[in-house]
Amino acid sequence: MLILMKPTATLRQTGEVLAFSERLSLRPYLSQAQGRRVIAITREDETLAAGLRELPGVDEVRPLGSGIKLTSRLFRSEDSVLIVGGGDRGSRPVAIGAGSMTVIAGPCAVEDRNMLLECAHAVREAGALMLRGGAFKPRTSPYAFQGLGVKGLELLAEARAATGLPLVTEVLSVDDLPAVAECADVLQVGARNMQNTALLRAVGETGRPVLLKRGMMATVDELLMSAEYILATGNQSVILCERGIRTFETSTRNTLDVAAVPVLRRRCHLPIIVDPSHAAGHRYLIAPLALAGVAAGADGLLIEVHPHPDHAVTDAEQTISTEKFADLMRQIRAVHSSIRSSAATSGWAD
Ligand code: PEP
Ligand code: MN
Repeated sequence: MLILMKPTATLRQTGEVLAFSERLSLRPYLSQAQGRRVIAITREDETLAAGLRELPGVDEVRPLGSGIKLTSRLFRSEDSVLIVGGGDRGSRPVAIGAGSMTVIAGPCAVEDRNMLLECAHAVREAGALMLRGGAFKPRTSPYAFQGLGVKGLELLAEARAATGLPLVTEVLSVDDLPAVAECADVLQVGARNMQNTALLRAVGETGRPVLLKRGMMATVDELLMSAEYILATGNQSVILCERGIRTFETSTRNTLDVAAVPVLRRRCHLPIIVDPSHAAGHRYLIAPLALAGVAAGADGLLIEVHPHPDHAVTDAEQTISTEKFADLMRQIRAVHSSIRSSAATSGWAD
């Protein structure tokens, strides 16, 4: 349920509602929507709602049924802006959300030191603000390269130290989480793990920012519910990523659901990014899909880049060169500045 405080409610009255909820062993979450304080509690109960309505300062108690709560615009009306990186890890802090264009780029997998460092310097030079690279890879075949594991994390940390770029890397299982969380600035939960609820809870509990990818067969509602798992741990730092869904179309690896961007934007306050690489499956499609994502109002992009894409060990067909990436960055800036000056992405409430 959402408890909407009166715009005139005092801090003390808000505190009393929080204390009331805690006395009933409920975990209240406090936010701000439409200029007033909002408290979300995860239990839906009419008797409880009636009790809450009696408390001073409470304007309205709104049931949410089985719908989203903490990801909802009703809970937080303003776009969430996350600051990732910075702190003790040696990366530069980067903002994402509310119309930013935060580009995350790097190889599909960390393969070796030279390639990673060359790639990291080149993407930073071109304007990427974060470095991606998989050390633990989710592969379709158990016989294919599974990533360098902990060694890959060490190389990523070296690339961060050399460039200042915050790191985004995937965590495949709860077992790997301590090592990945120790290294990563942002923990990526991949499409295949979007509904791994034990992993979602565990990444949430680390308190580190999480990049949550949409499952290839997941609806927007399911993506939001997976984000709720993370937010319900008290960790509000979640970035949502549209990376294509499986359809009957075979010309692309997946079908990029561009509409998911404005759909999510309307319902949810979290930053939204688009991954054209895993949607496209082909190099020639990366630029048009990336630009479509920007035009649809994404707050950032996740793009696979390699200094020698033909030699990439994983996802070579969809990986672009560092030169192509630099060209694409120029187009991304042009489209982003043109839509930022229009009302195209600000109409979520209409
Ligand atoms: C990735 O980004 O490296 C990846 C495996 O993507 P996805 O989970 O979207 O398939
Ligand atoms: Mn990949």
